[in-house]
Amino acid sequence: MCKRRTRPLWHVFIPFATASIFWDTTRQGSGRCALYFAAMSLSVRLLGTSASRPTIERNVASVAVVREGETLLFDCGEGTQRQMMRYGVSFALQDIFFTHFHADHVIGVIGLMRTLSLQGRSEPLRLWGPRGAIRTMKRAEEFGMDRLSFPLEVSELEPGQRLARKDYGIAAYQVDHRGARALGYAIVEDERKGRFNPERARELGIPEGPMWGEIHRGRAVTLGDGRIIEPSELVGGPRSGRKVVITGDTRPCSATVAIAQGADLLVHEATFGDEEAARAVETGHSTAREAAIVARDANVGMLLLTHFSARYSRDAADLGKEARECFERTLVGKDGLEIDVPYRDAE
Ligand SMILES: [Zn+2]
Ligand SMILES: [Zn+2]
Repeated sequence: MCKRRTRPLWHVFIPFATASIFWDTTRQGSGRCALYFAAMSLSVRLLGTSASRPTIERNVASVAVVREGETLLFDCGEGTQRQMMRYGVSFALQDIFFTHFHADHVIGVIGLMRTLSLQGRSEPLRLWGPRGAIRTMKRAEEFGMDRLSFPLEVSELEPGQRLARKDYGIAAYQVDHRGARALGYAIVEDERKGRFNPERARELGIPEGPMWGEIHRGRAVTLGDGRIIEPSELVGGPRSGRKVVITGDTRPCSATVAIAQGADLLVHEATFGDEEAARAVETGHSTAREAAIVARDANVGMLLLTHFSARYSRDAADLGKEARECFERTLVGKDGLEIDVPYRDAE
C-alpha cells in the first residue's frame, strides 16, 4: 500500500538543540511510493543571522539553499566559509548570489575565494548581484595578491531577470533598502508531473516496479498480455513546485508580497523589534512585525526571520512573539538552523 500521511512534515533542524521540531502543516507525504517517484530534496540553512556585525552568538548574513545536492549561496558575510565548514555546507558550489554590497553581506567572499584557490579549484565560480557587482567583485578578486586558481564569472542582474536552471529558476526582484541597488531572490521550481495513482495501477494489474516509473514519466507501457496502458489513465494533471523567497535587507515592500505569493518559505529580514520601528524606517530595514505582515499578505507557508540587530543577538524571542501576533507560522532564525521544505502535496 502506498499509504499517505494525513499531514506532511516540515523538518526543522536546530543545531545544538536536543530535538528536531516536526512542523505539521496541511501538506501530505507518501510512503513506499517514494521508491519509484523520488522527491527532490530542498533545504535552506541559515549560516549567519546577525545584522551589520558578528556577535558571539551570531555571524553576519549568509543563507545556503541546497537543492538535490546543488548548493546556492545567498550573500557571504565575513566568516561565512567557517560557518560552511561548521554546518557541513559544500565548498563545491557553483553560484553565489548577492542581495547588495553592504559590507556585512559581502566581505566573506574574499576569504572564501582564497580558500577555494588554495584547494586548487579549477571550475569557474559564478557570482551574481545587482548593478555594481562587477566592480565590487573585481576588487574582491584582487584582494590577497595571488591570482585565483579558477575563473570568476560575474554577472549583474536587473530586477525582473530570471535565470533558468534545470527544473527550477531564480528570479531577482527589486527590494527597498536605503536606495541601495538591492535585490531579493525567488527560487521557483518548475511544475512537476501529475500524481500517480497506485491503487488504479494495481487494479489494472500493472506490476509494481519500474513500469510504474515509466508511466509516471509519460510513457505508454505494454503489459505481458498485450494491453497497452496510456499514462493518462494513471497520472493526474501537473502540480506546482516549491518556492522559496529570500529578501536580503529591505523595508517591507509590495514587491516581496507579490513575488512571495503562496511561497512555501519566506526568509525575511527582521532587524528590529516594535520599539525600534522608527529606526527600521531610517535605516531601510524591517521590524519582525512588518516582516510578518508581508508573510501574511503573501500567504506563505512559513516565515523565517533573520538579520537581527546585535541587541537581540542573545535573545530574539520577543521578535518572534511580535511577529506571531500577525503571522503564526513564524520561526526565529539562528545560525545553523536548517529547514527542509516539503512539497505541498503527496509526491
Ligand atoms: Zn545587512
Ligand atoms: Zn544592507
